[in-house]
Amino acid sequence: MSHEQEETTGALVSGKRTLASPNDEELQLVVSGKTYWISRSALMSLPETRLGHLALQHKPGDSSRRYQFERDTKMVNPILNLYRTGELHIPGDMCGLAISRELRYWGIDSRLISECCFKRFKETLREVLIVEELDSAMKTDSVAKDSLSGQIWLTMERPGHSFGSWASNTSC
Ligand SMILES: [Zn+2]
Repeated sequence: MSHEQEETTGALVSGKRTLASPNDEELQLVVSGKTYWISRSALMSLPETRLGHLALQHKPGDSSRRYQFERDTKMVNPILNLYRTGELHIPGDMCGLAISRELRYWGIDSRLISECCFKRFKETLREVLIVEELDSAMKTDSVAKDSLSGQIWLTMERPGHSFGSWASNTSC
């Protein structure tokens, strides 16, 4: 029995991998060594995405239906479920930036994230943006340290930002 036949038998025995039509085919996605199966028709429900595009290019009966990726496996099930159910729920223990990076790779618009998870996603992204803004403010600050007038200008221009500690250090 060839490996291919074994896989087909496995699909029948499990009974889970039912296909939408006889012309449909299950594709094997190997992501960072983990194997996932999903029907070509499910992937084609989002043709503009990376996997949708792949499914469109794959012709039923092609000798190979195995595709390999090196990506974070945490997002794979949520993404595959999006193709299966039309809903995208994101892992609670994953940072928003990592999620948006993975979504970008798979060509999935973050607006597809389900309402229940979208608020949390936006919150974590906002936190990242605030940190980035503070970071760039600190960089601006270090440049401004060269001139006291620059420092005063920054403090006046951005009263919400705390440069007070720096100012008090220098007055000693
Ligand atoms: Zn959700």
